[in-house]
Formats: sequence, structure tokens, C-alpha cells
Amino acid sequence: MYLKILFRLGFPWLLVTNTILADSVFDPSTNTITLSHVLAGDGSSQTESIYATNVRITFNEVISTGTSWPPVIHPSPWPAELDFFDMRNQELTISYITTPDNSIELKDVVIKIDSVLGFEYSESIAAGLSDFKFRYVLDESLPIEWRNEFEQIMANLQRDIPIFAKPSWFSMPVFAWRSDAEPPLPFISGACICGGGDGGAYDWMSLEISEWEIENDNVHRYSVVPHEYFHVYQISHADLSGLKWLMEGPAATLESIYVQEHYGIDYFSEAQAPFLSELVLESPSLYESFTESGESDGNYSGSVFLTLILAEELQRQGFSESKAYRMIMRDFFQAGPNLDNWKTTFAEIFAMSLSSFYSKIRNYNLSYEGLLPSEELTISKIFTSQ
Ligand SMILES: [Zn+2]
Repeated sequence: MYLKILFRLGFPWLLVTNTILADSVFDPSTNTITLSHVLAGDGSSQTESIYATNVRITFNEVISTGTSWPPVIHPSPWPAELDFFDMRNQELTISYITTPDNSIELKDVVIKIDSVLGFEYSESIAAGLSDFKFRYVLDESLPIEWRNEFEQIMANLQRDIPIFAKPSWFSMPVFAWRSDAEPPLPFISGACICGGGDGGAYDWMSLEISEWEIENDNVHRYSVVPHEYFHVYQISHADLSGLKWLMEGPAATLESIYVQEHYGIDYFSEAQAPFLSELVLESPSLYESFTESGESDGNYSGSVFLTLILAEELQRQGFSESKAYRMIMRDFFQAGPNLDNWKTTFAEIFAMSLSSFYSKIRNYNLSYEGLLPSEELTISKIFTSQ
């Protein structure tokens, strides 16, 4: 029986009361697998998904044996992995599986389920709601107010900018800690969507929260969350790693719009505009590169400047403010650009070539004045704009 059918029926007598295991475990003595956390969905956002814990299954076919990755690459506090059941082809991807004696450790095993023996907990996630699963690891070095606000921000973002799980892209750990405490793991640092290196073939969100920002109630201690969340949204659609201003500009602009909407602070003028450099007027194309614009793009001031001008140019074409920002923050990424075709995507979505856009930049003054979005613009208006 497939998960979806079982969960719909929700047999109460199958509830088990095991504590949640750290990861998925294969027990050769009974030929059963216990999945600690599993998400079942079809990746379409058009149908409901199901999240369940401690699901005990048997299997009848191994489609891929995955890769072995010794030694264990995720010591505590790395959170337990999530597995994904693809309802379209009925295949289960097990992110990480061990045996009780740890003699087998495999990553990304794909199997066909034979039967579901039981589960501990399940919930349905309605069609259209964000079902991508963030797994929080919030260090106790952070004040409880920060941790509570973080959860509220994430709930706001998942409501307004849903991210949909799909095979190979369905979950990510989030590590947050205060900068004067030890990082949760040696290979985690800074504020980023990071991966690789000593962290192995995984991605994670790193939120190193500055001690100074906490002590001084600086809003960046919160605004970094929408910024990094938006990168996850971008990456879930587009593959533009290394392209600077079209990744960082929209993320830093969204960050400032979030701050305006939720805290009533003009973060654009306070924290981004002061770093503007003439270089962005002279050579906007340099802002495609981190190395070439680095010194001249403090707090992404220039990347935000280009984003604000793009929104202004779209409004001059006759689009409403919310639609202009929707085209930049949603449509462009949903078109799935990559590093080979992004200039074509740019021209298609914005109805102007990249070079003609760049040629307009020098007509502007080096200032955000006259370019800032209205205070009424909210993230939900942007993402639902018609
Ligand atoms: Zn960023």
C-alpha cells in the first residue's frame, strides 16, 4: 500500500510510539525500513503533500543503491535527514540510511515501497502551500526573542513566497547561532546558502547572527533571514550561481521590503544607499561578478540600485509597481534561467535586452531617491500581483 493511500485513510491503530530516530534505519533482521521523516508529494504544487514521521515500510525493489559516504558526515547537531516519496512515479528517495550496527551507511537510496506497516505522526499540506521542509537548529546562544521572531519570519515567508518540494530539492537544515558562540559545526560559518567542502554533498542555510547586532537591536539580525530564504526560492527555480546582481539585488531588495513591511524601517536608505559607488553608473556589467564588483558593492548597494532601476524601467513600460517587482522577483526565476541562457530570459521577461538596460543606467543619479518602492508594497502583493 502506498503512503498516500494509507495517510488518507489514516488508520489510527497503526500509530506507533517509537521516539523519532535520527535517520532512516534498515533492519536486515526484519527487512523493514523506518523513515524518521518523510515528505510525500508530486512536485507540482497543485496537489496536497503529506509529511510523516517514523514511517515503517517494507520494500520490493531497489532502483538505486545510492552512494556510500564514510565517515558519517553529519554529526550532532546536524538534524536528521528528510526522505522524499515522489507520488508521480511512486519512488522513495532515502537521503541517508544506516543499519542498527552502522555497518551500512548510504546516501540517496531509491526504492519502491512494498507496504507501509505504520507511522507515528502525519499531517497534510494543502495544495499551493509551501511544502519544502526547513529543519531548524537554533543554538541556545541566541536569545529566545530572536528564536521566536525567526520562526515568525519563516512562517511569514513560507506563506508569502511558497517554496515547493520536488525530487532532489525538498529540504534544508538551517543553523543559527550567535557570533560569539562556537559555530554548530566546524565547516559552518557566515550567512549564506552554503554547501560542499567538509559538509559533503549537502546544502544548508547558515545564519551567524552578529553579537553586535543583537546587543544593539540592529534590524539586520532579522533581515538576514528573508534575504537567505529568498536565495532558497531563487535556487529552487534558477541555476545562476555566481551571477551577482540578479541574485543578490533581488534578495537584498526583498530584504529591505520585508523590513519596511514588518518593522517600518527604511533599510534601503539606512543600510544600503550609503555604500553606493560610481562604478555602478559607469560599468553596471561588472556587477554580474562578485570579484569585479566586490569593493564597490558594499551591502549590495549597487546590486540593489540596478534592481530598483529595473523596477522603475518596467513601470515606465506601463506595468504597475507590484507587477514590476513580481516580474523581477518571481517571473524571472520561475522561467528557470541558467548561466548559459539568462540574458535571453532577461530579454524575454523584461521586454528589453540586457545591453539596452545597462545603457539606461547612466541616465540615473547615484541615489535611491525617487526609486524606492512605496511603503504600501508588501511581499504578498508582489507575489500575488496579477
Ligand atoms: Zn545574498
